[in-house]
Amino acid sequence: MPAPVAGRGWRRRLRREALALLGHAGPLVLVVAAAWHLPLPWNPFMPLDVRQPAGPLDRAKLRRLGDRPAACHAFLESAGQRFEPLPDRAVEAGCGWRDAVRVGGGPGLRWSPVPLTCHSAAALALWQHRVLQPQARAAFGQPVQRLEHFGSYACRDVAGTGRRSGHARARALDVAGVVLADGRRITVSSHWDGPPDAAAFLRALRDGACASVDQVLSPDHNAAHRDHLHLEQGGWRACR
Ligand SMILES: [Zn+2]
Repeated sequence: MPAPVAGRGWRRRLRREALALLGHAGPLVLVVAAAWHLPLPWNPFMPLDVRQPAGPLDRAKLRRLGDRPAACHAFLESAGQRFEPLPDRAVEAGCGWRDAVRVGGGPGLRWSPVPLTCHSAAALALWQHRVLQPQARAAFGQPVQRLEHFGSYACRDVAGTGRRSGHARARALDVAGVVLADGRRITVSSHWDGPPDAAAFLRALRDGACASVDQVLSPDHNAAHRDHLHLEQGGWRACR
């Protein structure tokens, strides 16, 4: 009776494979269960949260927001950003944008609204919460109330090259300076080599940005950046 034997063999094989699968999946189930209970900054299942201390997974979480517009908008909302989603601008000759927002600041902080990819706006939101405002409070005992900038979107090349700038895809913001709550104005052009407190503050903004922003270029990079910090999300990494 070959048929029943074959049937029993098939069932035995299925049982064996199911057990083997469980054997392989068991450790994974344990790892997932353990990770679920990790503290928030270490927890891969928890979304990025500006109120949490920085964690080792933040960059990966930020990167994932780059191709998840709904999650990115939710993150900007949770970070108190003033923004509205923008329709895509068809990319032609290397210029245009996808998944962008018009953003004009965050809690207690304003700037002239600009189009930025949501991914870039998210990196800036993280920078505001974890670097800009804490550094301002530490250095001057007050928050920044206004960010001054030279704009975000511009259909142009990187100066002196034939390569499109991150500005051509609304991925970058050129930060020129800040105005503190008491009205004191600190700019890269006037204070990078200015009074020690302001110069140290501007360097702390640059250095701190490197934790969340992919490309951070300051006057230390070249003369084209003598009066601003170029903060760009996406593409190659730089911090100088
Ligand atoms: Zn720039």
